[in-house]
Amino acid sequence: MDRSVFDRYQVWFVTGSQHLYGPETLKQVATDAKKIVAGLNAGKSLAVELIWKETLTTREEINRLMREASADHRCIGLVTWMHTFSPAKMWITGLSELSKPFCQLHTQSNREIPWDTIDMDFMNLNQTAHGGREFGFIGSRLRLERKVIVGYWEEKDVQARLDAWMRAAAAFADGREMKLARFGDNMREVAVTEGDKVEAQKVFGYAVHGYGLGELAGYTSAATDGEIDALVKEYEKLYVMGKGLESGKGRERVRTGARLEIGMRRFLEEGGFKAFTTTFENLHGLDQLPGLACQRLMADGYGFGAEGDWKTAALVRAMKVMGAGLPGGCTFMEDYTYHLVPGRSLVLGAHMLEICPSIAKGHIRLEAQPLAIGGKDDPARLIFESSLGPAINVSLMDMGNRFRFVLNEVEAVAPPAQLPKLPVARVVWKPKPDLATAAASWIYAGGAHHTGYSRAITREHIVDYASMAGVELLCIGEGSTVEGIRNEIRWNEMYYHLARGI
Ligand code: MN
Repeated sequence: MDRSVFDRYQVWFVTGSQHLYGPETLKQVATDAKKIVAGLNAGKSLAVELIWKETLTTREEINRLMREASADHRCIGLVTWMHTFSPAKMWITGLSELSKPFCQLHTQSNREIPWDTIDMDFMNLNQTAHGGREFGFIGSRLRLERKVIVGYWEEKDVQARLDAWMRAAAAFADGREMKLARFGDNMREVAVTEGDKVEAQKVFGYAVHGYGLGELAGYTSAATDGEIDALVKEYEKLYVMGKGLESGKGRERVRTGARLEIGMRRFLEEGGFKAFTTTFENLHGLDQLPGLACQRLMADGYGFGAEGDWKTAALVRAMKVMGAGLPGGCTFMEDYTYHLVPGRSLVLGAHMLEICPSIAKGHIRLEAQPLAIGGKDDPARLIFESSLGPAINVSLMDMGNRFRFVLNEVEAVAPPAQLPKLPVARVVWKPKPDLATAAASWIYAGGAHHTGYSRAITREHIVDYASMAGVELLCIGEGSTVEGIRNEIRWNEMYYHLARGI
């Protein structure tokens, strides 16, 4: 997915002040804010364009701007900056009514204190250190979720933190309009992929629409020979074709894969869907479990979940938006099998077929191989290794009284040997801090077997996204302990119960 997903969004840069300092100071405040906005936009390090707004100095101005921001469909959030002191009672109504996320940038126009020349004029103008605290108090007093970033605005790490928040805000805005198509229902008897769809739409905006397979089969059977020929040519250009796919049964299997892709893509485009699920138990009217189609649709930015897992499909879409334009990719994933060797324990992550090639490293093979489940013809699929390095696995569960995210920081590593007989795409990773701690913590947390896996985004993006949705997030990484996570779970049970009220 490329960065163009951000083009329709804006983040408004809002500076707070008051009238006590006189017009000269306020003029300088506006000049400095414009300089910061222009500098940040020119730096190209932020995903979403910042829009400078007039300095807010009264309650009436604040209320008006907050209402405008809430109503403006392009605005996905606010960056607030207190260049001077801005008495925060003025902000109560506005912030209470704001329906968009906000991020407090606790920065200064100047990097250093001018020790030799500093006087009271300078002190009057540059009051972030205490103005930002007054503003922070009212955010906490109102119990508002927000992000606070501290540091000089030209620093790379400050811009990276702001970029992560913008990407999360874009995914949050995208989610509020997300329509998800479910082909078939949930895999029978599976628990963790279920959940409250009404609550999901309230909390995240995800709208889940179910369809019978017959409706999709109508689209796949309508794909013409010409369309299928053209798509198979594209496959031949992009992928290393497996043996036996040039003619006969093998050729037919690739063509069936192409037919499924054409039909599913048309269905999703016509319906304005951003994510979808399939399930191998519901394939009536389809000749294969869609593997190749799911992989290629994911690579184009669709969220996907197997076995009817709409929560993971929506999460994968959100993670794809957060990582748009960044290297590393994002995919639907499953912890599949372990390498349980003391000190060198690893997880092999894969699925029956549906791993997104956006995470691929090296060449990608297209093959049609038997699937030992589902009782259909051998499905076409892409097989590849993944790129290596830091990654995250994230899952989303419905715990009955609330949603919960669980995240594990992992390191994708080269497999200790080739896997010549494994006919699916895969990733081998080392969980942090180690497999025993990570897997036990994950299991105590009720973490799902399905995840969104990404090397494009980090823990910080998910922290911001969960905060915007007001949803619990448990992070397992360096320094985590099983007892620590178990205590967090116990405390969170109380917090989320009480915070919700009656
Ligand atoms: Mn699965």
